[in-house]
Amino acid sequence: MFDKLLNSLVAMAPVACVAGILLAAGFRRNRVVWLLSLLALDAWGWTSSGRELLIALIAPALALWISVRPERPLLSPRNLILAVLTGLLIWFAGSFGESGIGRLRSWHVNADSWPAGLGTISLLYFAAAFVCSLHWFQRRGAADLGASAALACAALAAVPSAAAASTAWLTLGAGLAVTGVLIQAFRMAFMDALTGLPNRRALDEELARSEGRLVVAMVDVDHFKKFNDRHGHDAGDVVLRRVAQTLRRCRGGHAFRYGGEEFSILFAHGDIDRVCEALDITRKRIQETRVRLGSGRLPSSRPQAVRKGARQGEVHVTVSIGLAGRDGNTTHPQLLIEAADKALYKAKKAGRNRVVVAA
Ligand code: GH3
Ligand code: MG
Ligand code: MG
Repeated sequence: MFDKLLNSLVAMAPVACVAGILLAAGFRRNRVVWLLSLLALDAWGWTSSGRELLIALIAPALALWISVRPERPLLSPRNLILAVLTGLLIWFAGSFGESGIGRLRSWHVNADSWPAGLGTISLLYFAAAFVCSLHWFQRRGAADLGASAALACAALAAVPSAAAASTAWLTLGAGLAVTGVLIQAFRMAFMDALTGLPNRRALDEELARSEGRLVVAMVDVDHFKKFNDRHGHDAGDVVLRRVAQTLRRCRGGHAFRYGGEEFSILFAHGDIDRVCEALDITRKRIQETRVRLGSGRLPSSRPQAVRKGARQGEVHVTVSIGLAGRDGNTTHPQLLIEAADKALYKAKKAGRNRVVVAA
């Protein structure tokens, strides 16, 4: 049973690597493309006799280098030079002969001098895995986490063991790298990069799936163009993120970024009074939220967005909200959005910073 699983993992190594490389290239995860190419090279190294150890040393050394340097376009001149140099190095590996390879093998396997007897190859891979996990920590990109897990698998593959088990570890690593790219691709498709909320596509799909009672609220930041003009687009982005955080906490609702400075909130229970109450609490929370901007950002003339008594460097915005609901009938979700939009328009006309229910 275990042998069968091991054999199928070994057989899947080239497929996993090629699929991963194509997928990562499609989503421009260039670091993952490089790392998977090196894992493929490594997997080939474990199964080809003679020069395997040299390949197994080149691959982790390059993996560490690629992990450390910033991500570049795949076909950048530097990347092309690197690819040619790697090819030449491997070609030269043949001229090392058995004695050269033997010396390298003793260097690697003579692991007494390394912690936990891991050997040079494993330590290089673990170092690369650590660097990739730092990238993940900084940017929260699942592809970096997958790459880190793949490199850790490559490190385990290099721990002196049977060649078959090594290839199986590399297959598992390629699978984890592919999973990381897929998770990041999913996030790119359905999540808004600025606010972290689900985006318009996610909203459309949620609406298409919805059945029965439903309330849709449209939320729009008031006078946001003026806000941007006064404080700058970057400050506007900070404020949008804070507004999104507050909308996410709206009781019973599921918030989306509709586009620009507009958001939507869906309520599945459909009780308009309860929804109104929750939305009014959210509106007040946004009005009371003070966003601190970096010093020197505010212009010398007193900005309208800074309330009397507020400290210099703090700004706030308000939002207007329109909502419409259906009571178990078959009103098309698009009509609900239109009705909520009309109510939002009324809220704007009535002076903004308020919640209006569609007639
Ligand atoms: P109203 O109260 O009537 O809604 O006025 P408004 O100024 O908010 O509306 P308008 O549609 O005239 O302007 C919307 C502004 O939102 C214009 C645009 O610069 C800004 N905006 C849209 N998306 C973003 C974004 O992602 N970041 C920032 N900083 N601003 C954005
Ligand atoms: Mg708008
Ligand atoms: Mg607006």
